[in-house]
Order: sequence, then C-alpha cells, then structure tokens
Amino acid sequence: MQSDDDSMKIINGKEIAKEIRSEIENELVNLKNRNITPGLAVILVGDDPASNTYVRMKQKMCEELGIKTKDSRPGSDISQEELHLLIEQFNSDDEIHGILVQLPLPDQIDEKLALSKVLPEKDVDGFHPVNVGKVTLGEGGFIPATPAGIIEILMRSGNDPAGKNLVIIGRSRIVGRPLLNLLTQKRKGGNATVTLCHTATEDLSFHTLNADIIIAAAGSVNILDASMIKEGVVIIDVGANRVEDPTKKSGYRLVGDVDFDSVVDKASAITPVPGGVGPLTIIMLMKNCVIAAGGSFN
Ligand code: NAD
Repeated sequence: MQSDDDSMKIINGKEIAKEIRSEIENELVNLKNRNITPGLAVILVGDDPASNTYVRMKQKMCEELGIKTKDSRPGSDISQEELHLLIEQFNSDDEIHGILVQLPLPDQIDEKLALSKVLPEKDVDGFHPVNVGKVTLGEGGFIPATPAGIIEILMRSGNDPAGKNLVIIGRSRIVGRPLLNLLTQKRKGGNATVTLCHTATEDLSFHTLNADIIIAAAGSVNILDASMIKEGVVIIDVGANRVEDPTKKSGYRLVGDVDFDSVVDKASAITPVPGGVGPLTIIMLMKNCVIAAGGSFN
C-alpha cells in the first residue's frame, strides 16, 4: 500500500516525457517553417510480440507528432544481404532522416554487421560504431534513447548526478555501458563517480550500500532490496520484466528489477515500472529523429 509520502517520491516518467514532448513540438514547428518533415523508417524482422508492441508504440508517437513513418516487415527467414539491401534503400531515401532496426534480430543475422550498415547520420538509435565512438569521446553523436532518458529523469527530478556516488547494475551496450560513459563525462548531467556492476560482481551490496544513486538495468527481478541500500538513495529502475499474471488480459504484467515495496521507504526518489523510464525511451527516440532532420535543442 502506498502512502502520500510514497507518491511524492515516485518520479513520474510520463510527466517528464510530456515536458520533453512539448519541446519537440516547438522544434517541429521550426522545422515545418523550413519545409522539413522528419521521417523515421522502421525495419521489423519477424513477428516477435514484444517487438511488435514496441514498434507500434513508436509509430503511434510519430503519428501524434507529425513525424512521417515508413516501415518494412520482412519475415524471420530474411538473409543478411536482403536486410542490408533494405537498410540501404532507407539510407538513400531523402524523406527518411532516421532508421530503426528493431532488435532482437533472428539468429542467422549478424546484428552488429547489420547495424553498421545504417548511415551514422540516420542512426537515431545510436548503435552504429561511429555514434558509439563519438558519444564515448564526448564528441556528439546520437545518444541511445534509454540512457538519454535516464539522464533527463535525473536532471528534471532535481537529482543532478554531479559529485554523487552512482552505481549502475548491468553493462549492456544499449543501457549500462553508454550510461557509464555519459555519467562520468565532464558535462551537464554527468560528473558522477560511477561504479558499473555486472554478473561477475562478487558483492553487489558492497557497492550499492555506498551509492547516492542506483540505476538498475539488469533485466533480473528483485535484484535490489532494502538491505542493499542506504537511506535517501535515488533509484532508477530500468528493468522491464514480464511476469505471469492471470488477472491481466495479456496474461502478464511488467515489473522492474527492484523490489519496489521493500526499497520505497528508504529511497528519497524512485521511478516506478511501468511509468518511469519507459515513456522517456520513446520520447528520446523522437528527439533523436528531430535532430537527425536538422532540429536543435539547447
Ligand atoms: P541485457 O540483458 O542486454 O543486459 C543486462 C546486463 O545486466 C548484463 O550486462 C548483465 O551483466 C547484467 N546483469 C544481469 N543479471 C545480473 C545480476 N544478477 N547482477 C549483476 N548484473 C547482472 O539487458 P538490457 O537490454 O540492458 O536491458 C536491461 C533491462 O532493462 C531489461 O529488463 C530490459 O527489458 C529493460 N529495458 C527497459 C527499457 C525501457 O525503456 N524501460 C529500455 C531498455 C531496456
């Protein structure tokens, strides 16, 4: 049961996403005055239900904002060469400013090779090695949507990471690793002292007990409980894990990586699942799309 105190410390990702959405809408007006309509191409291979849902949500947001979308939905038996051809078609399409290859890809596809075929200037997911390199060096490039959204959450909820001890749990290429780079850089939304924990970390609590901010991105349910945190910690729960729930129409519900009920009293701020990081991921992808089309933000 949540108390009023609890609801005050729960960070509302939807509200933060709304703020960013209105900034994007302003920039879309500027682009329109220059006769530019941003275009996003989506390549969805196969019929994975979760991927279908993510793509539908992204395309719906594009529609609402007036971003043009084109999509291609090849079957899961597509060859590497055929996938590269599709990507190249969108690379040379002047109406398309951003290309999204929805992951995961089927086993026969070399994912890294396929992603490297997207033109870096259309790589709004920020997965191309050129963008990874630029972001790592602090020299621009597209920042992947989830890490960018997490930094927006911290800054806009009054939890600037500068000078703080921050622990990230999870070292994936799309969340943990880019966050490590961004949060340690001497930049707005950075300047933290960061520890990156992963599956080979021997004593997770040793690190989390000393953290002012914890970002859990392991994809593992209940990885963090009250015994592992100090009073007043800020917790960002990135996890989006499906657990069976016969009371839901879908048969499952979404839970984070953190044991929310256990940690909520000790934390000074925490993102819920759903309604925390998720809404930011979609809106930050839209922002990258607008940037790819020539838009700019302060
Ligand atoms: P991933 O599986 O690629 O990476 C998980 C990382 O966590 C790995 O590096 C692994 O070393 C680490 N890890 C796993 N179990 C661990 C443990 N017990 N202790 C310490 N480290 C552990 O996953 P990902 O793509 O980075 O996503 C992580 C989670 O975030 C997933 O639940 C995913 O669904 C979710 N996610 C949510 C959003 C969103 O918009 N809300 C976006 C991206 C990912």
